[in-house]
Amino acid sequence: MTPATESADRDFLRELAHSPHPVWQAVLAAMREGLLIVDRETTVLVQNPAAESIFPPPPISSRPLRLIDLTRDPAVHEGFREALDQGTSRELRFELRRGEPRVFHVTITPLRFASEEPQAALGVFVEITALEHLERVRRDFFANLSHELRTPLAAILAYVETLQEVGLEDPEHARRCLEGLFRQAQRLHALVRDITDLAEIESGVVALSLDVLPLHTLVEDVLTLIRPQAQERDISIANEVPEDIQVLADPFRLTQILQNLLDNAIKFNRPGGHVGITARRSGERVLIAVTDTGIGIPPADQPRIFERFYRGEKSRSRETGGSGLGLAIVKHLVQLHGGEITVRSEPGRGSEFTFSLKTAD
Ligand code: ADP
Repeated sequence: MTPATESADRDFLRELAHSPHPVWQAVLAAMREGLLIVDRETTVLVQNPAAESIFPPPPISSRPLRLIDLTRDPAVHEGFREALDQGTSRELRFELRRGEPRVFHVTITPLRFASEEPQAALGVFVEITALEHLERVRRDFFANLSHELRTPLAAILAYVETLQEVGLEDPEHARRCLEGLFRQAQRLHALVRDITDLAEIESGVVALSLDVLPLHTLVEDVLTLIRPQAQERDISIANEVPEDIQVLADPFRLTQILQNLLDNAIKFNRPGGHVGITARRSGERVLIAVTDTGIGIPPADQPRIFERFYRGEKSRSRETGGSGLGLAIVKHLVQLHGGEITVRSEPGRGSEFTFSLKTAD
């Protein structure tokens, strides 16, 4: 290592930094990764456009741009320092908290050319925001799933144990245990069905079989299935859909959407309450609304109810048998039809779920 080779390296780097060569410039511009080359004085020699979006350079700077002008993150500075002083590489996680938080995996490597001592260090910033988000979603999914499975399974085990211990000598007790077993097995069955459904819909393997459907009649068919449940809880239901409205939809999937919304409208209602289904044309679309006079949804819950496994406090404490997947399925199915779903709700007064479909007129 001689001063001559060091200065040769420095000259080479300076030349590279200012090289207008189109290939070099094209490479820098095409990279999605942020790239910074910093010299021993921590002057920034190279900053590609992706790195400029991470670290916007100060608007006016009379002196050469330094690393400290771009970031004050101690780990990034330490990484470059280590690469320059000790010649070692470093990997680190870097969080950008300006605006929407972004996360990066950073690799900092010393750059050596003619001299043994690194004259610069190269930092590559790979964005991992989406990856970390997906990882979190996946972890939450499995945590929620095992929680939802554990509850009915624990109940089933408890019933079986009771049957083994005392049940068979006491027919009345045995009957109650069997009823409980049946309820919990049904719950498990519904959960597995919803998960399979959601997985299929989300993976995009579900193909819609679109048809021109008279909405009033389809709603009537769904009500035939759901009315016993409403009667049991003394809730009236009215099909207020005009007879002349036709939609372009998959009959099986539209039934599923309505069933889920009506099921909730009954489940979260109060005895003597009311549920209504209305529809109106709006340009190329039909807006279908399911309204109820039920318990309503607290404003804080409203943005979250379409998430997988999200259940309001009332659903959890009331033992409604729901898994929190119903609205996630509904949302996906509506989107698959090219529509949208929104909710308006007032705690204590009721809720209104409105979704759009294409008109078949
Ligand atoms: P589940 O009904 O299995 O709990 P959903 O995904 O269908 O799951 O609904 C998520 C949550 O949204 C429910 O737990 C409940 O808190 C709330 N919710 C949905 N529909 C209504 C409604 N019509 N009235 C009040 N709350 C509702």
